[in-house]
Amino acid sequence: MSQEVHSFQAETQQLLNLMIHSLYSNKEIFLRELISNASDAIDKVRFEEITKKNLLAAEGESGIRLSVDAQSRKLVIEDTGIGMTRDELISNLGTIANSGTKKFLDKLTETDKKDANLIGQFGVGFYAAFMVAEKITVESRSASGEQAWLWESTGNGTYTLASGSKSARGTRIELTLKDDEKEFLEEWRIKGIIRKYSDYVTYPIVWLDKDNKEERLNKSTPVWARAKKDNKPEDYQELYKQLSGDWQEPLLWEHMSVEGLTPFQAVVYIPSAVPFDLYQRDSHGLHLYVKRVSISDKCKELIPEYLRFVSGVVETDELPLNVSREILQQNTKLPAIRKQIVKKLLGALQNLAKNEPEKYTSFYANFGAVLKEGFHFDRDSHETLSELVRFRSTKTGSDSWVSLKEYWERKADGQRDIYYLSGSSYDAVSASPHLEALTSRGIEVLLLSDPIDEWFVMDYPKHGEASLKSIAKGDLDLSGVGQEPEKKQNEDELAPEKIAPLLEIFRRKCGESLKDVKISKRLVDSPCCLVADEFGLSAHMERMMKATNKEFTGAKRILEVNPSHPIIRSLVSKAESNPADVALEEWVDVLYDTALLAEGSPVRNPGAFARKLTKMLETQKA
Ligand code: ADP
Repeated sequence: MSQEVHSFQAETQQLLNLMIHSLYSNKEIFLRELISNASDAIDKVRFEEITKKNLLAAEGESGIRLSVDAQSRKLVIEDTGIGMTRDELISNLGTIANSGTKKFLDKLTETDKKDANLIGQFGVGFYAAFMVAEKITVESRSASGEQAWLWESTGNGTYTLASGSKSARGTRIELTLKDDEKEFLEEWRIKGIIRKYSDYVTYPIVWLDKDNKEERLNKSTPVWARAKKDNKPEDYQELYKQLSGDWQEPLLWEHMSVEGLTPFQAVVYIPSAVPFDLYQRDSHGLHLYVKRVSISDKCKELIPEYLRFVSGVVETDELPLNVSREILQQNTKLPAIRKQIVKKLLGALQNLAKNEPEKYTSFYANFGAVLKEGFHFDRDSHETLSELVRFRSTKTGSDSWVSLKEYWERKADGQRDIYYLSGSSYDAVSASPHLEALTSRGIEVLLLSDPIDEWFVMDYPKHGEASLKSIAKGDLDLSGVGQEPEKKQNEDELAPEKIAPLLEIFRRKCGESLKDVKISKRLVDSPCCLVADEFGLSAHMERMMKATNKEFTGAKRILEVNPSHPIIRSLVSKAESNPADVALEEWVDVLYDTALLAEGSPVRNPGAFARKLTKMLETQKA
């Protein structure tokens, strides 16, 4: 039959050119990529075999075979996998569907640097073979029974398709190596690469020598099914890279082999950097094997969403092989396995926090905000999670953290609550007037600025005997807590009856948007601030609600006025001498707006605010 000539999709050709002219030094990864494709193809056919009857059977033992012909510079990788139909060859090897490869290309164009190292980081799949081959011939026969097809290309714009003669199911990839890549014909070189990258592969990788004698190159049990002592760190690291697509080393891993009611084996990993899809829904899951058959490469039921940064593999013999991906959701064994995995992982994190605090801090900076979701979704783990959370505070500053335990150990005399302030950023919260009374008494305040924190304090209102108390809500009674602050000279508090007329002016001017105006016990250096009801929402929470719901109006808050502040004192005497003074009303207006600004809320009318403020500044000599 005649040969058809097809053109590569433009993006594919772009990638091929990169591969052909690649200066990337670690070219050996091409073999890892081809073996990984072969292994996936066997995974797929074994899964299909469970439910479909009329698939083409494999010839001989299922696995991956490698052989070379030194004379013609050929390296051959053949698998007993699912194979490809004619259409699949066109779409899989003629276009770029794979998101990882797409990301690689985007990254290249985005940075506009032809950084060869990116190749190794992304693992560009099949096309990596063009780094070492001048011609690639793929002969594939799909398990569906369609005849075999022969795909061939030198990577130069086009590929050809013709009928093939392969009778067995699977794919045979023949690389004609470039003259200066002959090292990949050497037996020792190939064996070394397999040992280095492909020991995690569950199927036999077999070397065929000149006399067709077979030698198995990888271990016969996968990493997770071996005893811990039989695994080297590299084995775990390579498995991680394969499972996660991350090229960096994982931060930690847990290898577990659990006996009991639902026995299973698992290796789970915590990454050292934030995965790109951390905030994408439904992107999490662990690879599930049942009796060596890959059932799902993202089984959500095995890991809760608040640990979605975790990757790993689980194998159990406790599920029926023909379990469909849909039925997994109703399976009762999986929650039992998940529970164990969560327990082990949180335990590993506790150990890390204890033994390698710096490493733990880097973990927490990356994933702390996600971990805190666990307070909502996993009540059973509250105690452990409360040991794992860390916070910025008025004592830690912006570059270190405090745990709830440490916070409590250094609490002030007489302190019964854990004080916190929440807001949109560390900078905003740490400069808030609400903190004044507490810092002047030496009381530490947790500064919460992750969006999730508003939910965290609702889901975890009490730590031991201590309540988590917002210092921006309700009455703050600090008498008897911490050390009494020294009074500054000339800053005696005005008596309540002296301030009353000023409070009246505040009520008259701003009363519509306020619940009340009161004398404050929490201010030291600022003239006024806004506080929420004891059980009301914080200003930050209200802003988040408004962002998602236009109808949401929120509750009115209370304006507190500092009875010893110089501005307040001078306004009080102004009000005594001329209560109808227009300037007085402008001051009251501006003060309310500054209180809004201090809590991170917008002022009511920015133009009017700026005008009034400028006028006041004009009366001051610069
Ligand atoms: P990736 O494997 O990351 O998806 P590749 O470019 O390596 O990207 O491969 C593209 C697609 O070609 C694969 O997703 C798979 O569908 C198909 N493929 C590659 N190699 C094989 C193989 N040995 N057997 C069956 N299909 C394969």
